[in-house]
Amino acid sequence: METLLQKDSLTVKEIQAARARAWYAANKERAKLNHEKYYKEHKDKIRSDAKEWQNNNKERFINLKAQYRDAHKKEISVYTKKYNNINKKELSHKKKVYRDGNREKLQLSYKLFMDNNPEKSKEYYLNGRDKKRAYGKKYYRENKEKVLTYAKKYRAEHVAKRRNYSIKYKQENPDVVTRSSHNRRARKIKATIEKFSVSEIYERDRWICGLCGKKVNKALKHPHPQSASLDHIIPLSKGGDHSRANTQLAHLRCNIKTNTGGIKQTRLF
Ligand SMILES: [Zn+2]
Repeated sequence: METLLQKDSLTVKEIQAARARAWYAANKERAKLNHEKYYKEHKDKIRSDAKEWQNNNKERFINLKAQYRDAHKKEISVYTKKYNNINKKELSHKKKVYRDGNREKLQLSYKLFMDNNPEKSKEYYLNGRDKKRAYGKKYYRENKEKVLTYAKKYRAEHVAKRRNYSIKYKQENPDVVTRSSHNRRARKIKATIEKFSVSEIYERDRWICGLCGKKVNKALKHPHPQSASLDHIIPLSKGGDHSRANTQLAHLRCNIKTNTGGIKQTRLF
């Protein structure tokens, strides 16, 4: 009895479905309008029903979503691009608001991710660096006047800040500053520039001053007269190279002594 009933009701259902399909095929436009009208009128209810269903069938919903995404990859990417393009301003504003409101949280999760994925972190860094450089160069080429005016204005408005920062940076990174300053001067007079670190020379010379032959105290910092400095044996101004072979460790005081008289132009750190 039961099976019969089931069979019967199924048949009825099947007939109904077939009828509906036929009607739909013959009245596509009308069906669409009806559908839209129905959706508009019952929007909230449809949405809340869907939400409820999703909540009650979480796992299934996630699977369905993944399945759908896999099956419609191309369309989704086209659609997303189109949507993002149309809503560019709004989206970037939304993103900015979110970033501003969640700065600490974002920084923390970024740091966590980078700490846990050192390989990725390196990759991102390198990619990001190249991209940033390329973008910066392009921007500069296209907006030269603007960039220069802005830079000038910024410098003029931040004289004290920049000076303080520079002093602090030099104190904290004596090696870097010395190197870049040497490079800059060497570039100016087109000398050969070798890449090396100042501390490398100091270690090579075993912390013995090349001018007076006495020990140099590692702990002393510029501008202490007994602190370490890099001496160019043939001064850059006389055509000497900024190279390992042409440099030596010297006390700052000894270095300055040999420089008085204007023979050497070495600016010292
Ligand atoms: Zn010395």
